[in-house]
Amino acid sequence: MTNGLKKFWYNEEKHSDDSFDEFNQILLTPKSTSRTIVMRSFSRLYHWISTHRILFLIISLIGIPLMIYMLLMILSSNRAFIPIEFQEKRYNILLIVAHPDDECLFFSPTLRVLQTQYHQNLSLVVLSRGNHAGLGQIRAMELHGSCRALNIPSNRCLSLDLLQIKDDPKVWWSEQQLIPIIEEYVIKWSIDVLISFDNRGISGHLNHRAVASAVRLMTENRTNTMIKMSYELKSVSLLRKYSSILDFYWIFISSIPRLLHSLLSYLIPFNLISSTDKSYMLLINTPNDYMASRNAFASHQSQYSWDRHLYLLASRYMFINELKYIDKHV
Ligand SMILES: [Zn+2]
Repeated sequence: MTNGLKKFWYNEEKHSDDSFDEFNQILLTPKSTSRTIVMRSFSRLYHWISTHRILFLIISLIGIPLMIYMLLMILSSNRAFIPIEFQEKRYNILLIVAHPDDECLFFSPTLRVLQTQYHQNLSLVVLSRGNHAGLGQIRAMELHGSCRALNIPSNRCLSLDLLQIKDDPKVWWSEQQLIPIIEEYVIKWSIDVLISFDNRGISGHLNHRAVASAVRLMTENRTNTMIKMSYELKSVSLLRKYSSILDFYWIFISSIPRLLHSLLSYLIPFNLISSTDKSYMLLINTPNDYMASRNAFASHQSQYSWDRHLYLLASRYMFINELKYIDKHV
């Protein structure tokens, strides 16, 4: 490096602390290589972060996640995220949940995106009225407000009040009892696609997990041949569940292989690389969808405690749903 450049470098860094200067002097030896240039960039970045900690936190916790959120919204119609079937056909979709409010606390991105962007026909069956605290009647009425906010037709928005299926976090609902009930509505409404919880039930609630088990059994064993596809909502760790928009970091990183696969299948001719399959769906609420989902939950007034306010901001399920395809047994 020339003397002139060295002088410039020292002048620029004259306010640095001693250890930082020592580090840079090592890097400014005549044997500078691309490796030292990279190290120098890192050292300058480290110095910038250590002198702008608050700004760095704001950018990391809000700015970058929001940018990824916008990028994913732009990419959300890519086949990597939404199977071609849902882009080309209009299905009758049935969401099966356990309690009134499950539909907006956990499934609102699924409901909103499939309806507003892909014009799918939605139906909802809630297998109990959530009467564990004696509020079943009120909660059944509140559900209709939620369905209105989510644009689910009122004649396809039901909460059941059955003797053998009661809201209770300590009771496993028998699949043998659930399957005929689900089948009844599959036939009645000519349902093509079932959506429900996965085997961890998002919160681990036994009723959620029992519903998931019944839907999985129905699908795997082809109990009902009308059902073309079934999907389950992916549960994540507690940390990710309450990471709000920060979860977009992980979603973006984990989506890169699917995006690359989709890009290559598009670029390489003769179908040498198959297009992405229907095994996965990523559904992201737009800001408008998020507000509609909040409005839907506002209908569940009996459930509107202080921790629910926090949930609506902190839960990633208010912004993101990942659906996994349930394979049928051959
Ligand atoms: Zn529930």
